[in-house]
Amino acid sequence: MSKSNRFDPEAGKDYGRCRDCDLTLETREDAESHMHSSMQDDGRGGRASHSVSVLNPPRQARIDSEVRWAVSGALDDAVAQLERLLRDASEDEISSALSGYPDFRDAWEGFCDER
Ligand SMILES: [Zn+2]
Repeated sequence: MSKSNRFDPEAGKDYGRCRDCDLTLETREDAESHMHSSMQDDGRGGRASHSVSVLNPPRQARIDSEVRWAVSGALDDAVAQLERLLRDASEDEISSALSGYPDFRDAWEGFCDER
């Protein structure tokens, strides 16, 4: 079903490495298991695990990241266009017009909150 190998992880390269103890983690399951087993009190009343640098993400994670980037770019472009409407319409009128587009409305309202 895969279209191409563009997003495939690099063969023979480990999934990641622990930033805290430098342990090599072959697979995402190894990383999750290491984060789980290294969970301990953080000395500030909470709990924390070691953190992992992902060096060779799996195919789906690479695609997720590319799609997130495309969606985020579309939201930014839309907000920039909507900002131009402020010459002739209020923030609330524009928000109301976005009621059928919840992701765009959230991006718009986030932009308005920061103005
Ligand atoms: Zn570790």
